[in-house]
Amino acid sequence: SRGLATVQDEKPKQRHYGGLKDQDRIFQNLYGHHGADLKSAMKYGDWYKTKEIVLKGHDWPPVCAAVAALVSSGMKWSFMNFKDWDKDTKPRYLVVNADEGEPGTCKDREIMRKDPHKLIEGCLVAGRAMNCTAAYIYIRGEFYHEATVLQRAIQEAYQAGLIGKNACGTGYDFDVFIHRGAGAYVCGEETSLIESLEGKPGKPRLKPPFPAAVGLFGCPSTVANVETVAVAPTICRRGASWFNSFGRERNSGTKLFCISGHVNNPCTVEEEITAAACAGWDNLKAVIPGGSSTPVLPKHMCEDQLMDFDALKDSQSGLGTAAVIVMDKSTDIVRAFSRLSTFYRHESCGQCTPCREGSKWTEQIMKRFEKGQGRVREIDMLQELTKQVEGHTICALGEAFAWPLQGLIRHFRPELEARMKSYAEQHGGEALAGGW
Ligand code: SF4
Repeated sequence: SRGLATVQDEKPKQRHYGGLKDQDRIFQNLYGHHGADLKSAMKYGDWYKTKEIVLKGHDWPPVCAAVAALVSSGMKWSFMNFKDWDKDTKPRYLVVNADEGEPGTCKDREIMRKDPHKLIEGCLVAGRAMNCTAAYIYIRGEFYHEATVLQRAIQEAYQAGLIGKNACGTGYDFDVFIHRGAGAYVCGEETSLIESLEGKPGKPRLKPPFPAAVGLFGCPSTVANVETVAVAPTICRRGASWFNSFGRERNSGTKLFCISGHVNNPCTVEEEITAAACAGWDNLKAVIPGGSSTPVLPKHMCEDQLMDFDALKDSQSGLGTAAVIVMDKSTDIVRAFSRLSTFYRHESCGQCTPCREGSKWTEQIMKRFEKGQGRVREIDMLQELTKQVEGHTICALGEAFAWPLQGLIRHFRPELEARMKSYAEQHGGEALAGGW
């Protein structure tokens, strides 16, 4: 059986990363065996036939449409109204979301550290496909080292004539800029990111209008994530059918998974999108499959769980950022979710009431639950509260704290109840007026 992670076990089992062959991995330098400089990047395939790809990309849809069809968020590229390029009165921009702040997620960081030229080449390919004049890479403020490596790579690309005026000899001018964020989680939301890029407080905008119509500086823009942009040139070079041969229908391709928590080897791996489950069952308690905003899966649901969009949706969770957080039996799961509630309360921008107040209340409730204080019926109240938040906020941060708590209640209610009962027994049941 293929596996992504090995849970720390009494008897650690052999580590096994899955079935993808090395030559099929897009990110050949994920473990830093080569340099991040231009010469090394070219040695392992970057900037190869880029001119051809860029020139083809102008004739949307031949090559880059394949990317849009295959890469989930690539679909957004097609919203940029390709038919009316000639009538453009405003510049178009590609905005790359490198504000990687989702707890457990560290794949974009690895790309920028080890494979920066993949991202820069991807900016050019994707940018040309959408007739953009520039790409703005919005990088998380804490990623100082990554911003430095990326900036160095951008300079190399400019000096080699790969970007800038007449990029790659295509006759097309394309600039790439880096903008460093200031550590706000909500700036990972596309409209909030655009606000921040414009120099304003990072608060999400109401949609519509969508960025494809009114984006950065009021111009048509597409916000794309680092991984999607970085894989584009390789898919264009090797062909859609090659990429499509991994995974299964509607869930094809490869994906970077970030594995953290109680594992022997926390790491980022590139794997087929359908790669399954993990080994080391004895000591496993639960897994958060796609970053802290996706609902937790208890041990019994992890067996043979496919790690793709549809399979995780069927399990009432999600692939999210593919950040797999593994928890062994030593985990105090109520405390873990209480800590996450604090994170979301802190990161709420406060613009809309259900999120601002809801995140505060859920934090307070979870802090009490953590100690065992509370009544069993309050679990239902917490559930109801999260339902009131869901779908009633400007951006997805509301769901980001509501859904994981729903998952906790769905799968770990007995643990919550046992904690309360134990606290009541120790402190006298009468103290909890209203009973159970
Ligand atoms: Fe701000 Fe939260 Fe509303 Fe998003 S959901 S706009 S973070 S208050």
